[in-house]
Amino acid sequence: MKIYKTIADMRAASRTARYTGKRLGLVPTMGALHEGHLSLVRAARAKCDGVAVSIFVNPLQFGPSEDLAKYPRTFERDRELLEKEGVDILFAPTPEEMYPTGAVTYVTVEGLSEKLCGKSRPGHFRGVTTVVAKLFHIVEPDAAFFGQKDAAQATIIRRMVQDLNLPVEIAVCPIVREPDGLAMSSRNAYLSPQERKSALVLHRALTEVKNRFDQGERNAINLIAAGTQVLTQDPTVRLDYFEIVNPVTLDPVPELTSCALVAGAAFVGNTRLIDNILLP
Ligand code: AMP
Repeated sequence: MKIYKTIADMRAASRTARYTGKRLGLVPTMGALHEGHLSLVRAARAKCDGVAVSIFVNPLQFGPSEDLAKYPRTFERDRELLEKEGVDILFAPTPEEMYPTGAVTYVTVEGLSEKLCGKSRPGHFRGVTTVVAKLFHIVEPDAAFFGQKDAAQATIIRRMVQDLNLPVEIAVCPIVREPDGLAMSSRNAYLSPQERKSALVLHRALTEVKNRFDQGERNAINLIAAGTQVLTQDPTVRLDYFEIVNPVTLDPVPELTSCALVAGAAFVGNTRLIDNILLP
């Protein structure tokens, strides 16, 4: 596996790959890799001739009071995992390489970026779309792989690719969960043993909504109430949002007549966790 830290080296490598007719897949990550990330790597490997993974803890997508400084950084372990997965290229730039002094240009997907997590994390999605657009220009992948775990992010990136005519195929892969149902996340490492137990409420709330849906309930207000009730049972959990939206527009839906996204975010202690399901 080749490791590149500069944009120039990364671009030279991907151009060479493309000249030789290889289809290149990109998996953008912030590192602290787990099975969720590796599932994207495997999907990329299945669909592409070469796989590039980026590891970059993107300062632009963290708010001033968020966890940028303490975000887990486990580069050596990540490198070994990617090596084992047969990844061809690891792109790991520094913040200075990605955002040299004086950079003032951003990519914003208007409207969508203020929904779901965008409401409580102003500027977050602008940070995501700016870095992903930059990574697409630097790596020039044929396809890029994202997780359904960050459902709003996937919707917003698809919109950006469509609106800006970016020549990248977007694949969204299923959420990988722990055996008890907790969605895998690099942030799970922050949880104390007690918080780890409480963290399951998000999955429990989504399961409750799915059960009610399976029993025939289609009214969004009733389904949200059922999910919220589960979420608020644990006093150590602080609800951020629990919504049922159209997966393309991210606007709330009153009735679940076609595919809907049930998405929630909650603080368990100081750790903010997200999870979602698609119904049906
Ligand atoms: P992150 O490193 O958290 O920015 O995540 C990098 C990519 O991995 C994003 O596309 C995420 O949606 C995806 N991802 C994170 N956790 C999971 C998971 N549990 N299952 C599937 N994909 C995931």
